[in-house]
Amino acid sequence: MSELLKGIAASDGVAVAKAYMLVQPDLTFAKKTVEDSEGEVARLADALAKSTEELQAIRNKAAETLGEEEAQVFDAHLMVLSDPEMIGSIESSIRDNKINAESGLKEVTDMFIGMFEAMEDNPYMQERAADIKDVTKRVLSHLLGVKLPNPSMIDEEVVVVAHDLTPSDTAQLDRRYVKAFVTDIGGRTSHSAIMARSLEIPAIVGTMEITSKVEDGTMLAVNGIDGETFINPTDEEKAAVAKKGEEFAALKAEWDKLKDAQTVTADGKHIELAANIGTPKDLDGVNGNGAEAVGLYRTEFLYMDSPDFPTEDAQYEAYKAVLEGMNGKPVVVRTMDIGGDKELPYLTLPHEMNPFLGYRAIRICLAEDAMFRTQLRALLRASVHGQLRIMFPMIATLPEFRSAKAMLEEEKAKLVSEGVAVAEDIQVGIMIEIPAAAVIADKFAKEVDFFSVGTNDLIQYTMAADRMNERVSYLYQPYNPAILRLLKNVIDAAHAEGKWAGMCGEMAGDQTAVPLLVGLGLDEFSMSATSVLKTRSLMKRLDSAKMAELADKAINECDTADEVVALVEAYTK
Ligand code: PEP
Ligand code: MG
Repeated sequence: MSELLKGIAASDGVAVAKAYMLVQPDLTFAKKTVEDSEGEVARLADALAKSTEELQAIRNKAAETLGEEEAQVFDAHLMVLSDPEMIGSIESSIRDNKINAESGLKEVTDMFIGMFEAMEDNPYMQERAADIKDVTKRVLSHLLGVKLPNPSMIDEEVVVVAHDLTPSDTAQLDRRYVKAFVTDIGGRTSHSAIMARSLEIPAIVGTMEITSKVEDGTMLAVNGIDGETFINPTDEEKAAVAKKGEEFAALKAEWDKLKDAQTVTADGKHIELAANIGTPKDLDGVNGNGAEAVGLYRTEFLYMDSPDFPTEDAQYEAYKAVLEGMNGKPVVVRTMDIGGDKELPYLTLPHEMNPFLGYRAIRICLAEDAMFRTQLRALLRASVHGQLRIMFPMIATLPEFRSAKAMLEEEKAKLVSEGVAVAEDIQVGIMIEIPAAAVIADKFAKEVDFFSVGTNDLIQYTMAADRMNERVSYLYQPYNPAILRLLKNVIDAAHAEGKWAGMCGEMAGDQTAVPLLVGLGLDEFSMSATSVLKTRSLMKRLDSAKMAELADKAINECDTADEVVALVEAYTK
């Protein structure tokens, strides 16, 4: 029986393929006393052998696709599996206590993990503890006869189904085989959804129940444009989804014709159309889609892709590659924004009840001064390779901006005194993501060179609606008059001081929002590279004076987001 499940359309495109469950199996078990200890020791040996074989295969695949260095993490796991001291202790525990293999394994590995974790100042021991945890899970899965997902081993076309995907899970998806993903939770602006758009993987998030309705191998037809998943689709449903895909491809072909065109409105107003990136590799998408600048380089991905804090030189190389790759066009580099849904395995922070309201971004940078200064030095050194603009995220107060700017100036002075060349014309701006900053934008505008509005966060904070939570996604309202008023305040404040205002949150590429933003006088729009051409196509059809009238009416005459949407439709049809 086919079934239609609706979710939040997170990344355009369609796919028809079997489900691959990226779901952690239940690894709970009961502690039992057993007579046949030798039988349990044999079960353990069997599970160890199967785990070794599995890890060897994963290691070989990682070496082939990611390189030797990345594969070495699995060597550490294989070493745990063949550690005579640990295996001997597990066997003794099974024999001496007459317990089942699962309990013997857990008791001994817990003891080792506890011992290593207690050595808090020793990162090597912390890593060993993490390795043992991973390996224990794998051996347990074989003892219990359940399957651990191994996304790196996918070698046929699938739709990945998961409760949630972290940004690092998403980065590991192999685009050759992963044709789409569908999750239970998440919102359109969660970082996995943003990454799916830049990887051009169709995605639906926030279905609430896909993992309970589907198992490995269930056929799925995914329509990422409308947020619809057909479970066990009929031939007609498959054909309808395929047709949707063809229509989308035809539209894309039309937009592609605008790759080398200028971004001008119907009445000739030029607008800077930029793209967001997470790594230098994303420049292919930026240039392939004809973006005029990089409006947001999320540098935290550089930190997330690295086994430890990236060195000044490694960062310099990445920033230089992006600046050079843009051939003198502007590049806005945002300093590290860890926290929220982005974690660093090597920066362990205490668990927080509200990570998006917690210790993140500039708050960490101002406290972890040395780490921040390393990034600033790398940026300043790279500045001579292009047109660099530096941007600080999550600024709430003027003193925060002043402290960050002062550190930048200090590092610049040090570099200059060391004889290192630094560009003279680096613009320094802030993200407007916190309502407090939006409200006093007039004060900030006197001190910054530019604003870039991070609506992904600004909307969640203004509406008090977690951007990751599908249950409150109805409150996540870019077109709410409250948001539009804040935006107007920010843009007008920038212009009053002769500064420019851009936007790098996902709202900048939202086709209903674009007419309003053009009307509000936004100078720069930065979005997923895959949204650039459709936005250029839309802007060419808009008259900026008419859009100013639209924005004015939306702000002054509309009571609700729905009324704003209806007004936009009336103005743009
Ligand atoms: C934003 O908040 O709009 C933004 C661009 O930053 P991020 O999505 O990385 O939080
Ligand atoms: Mg943000």
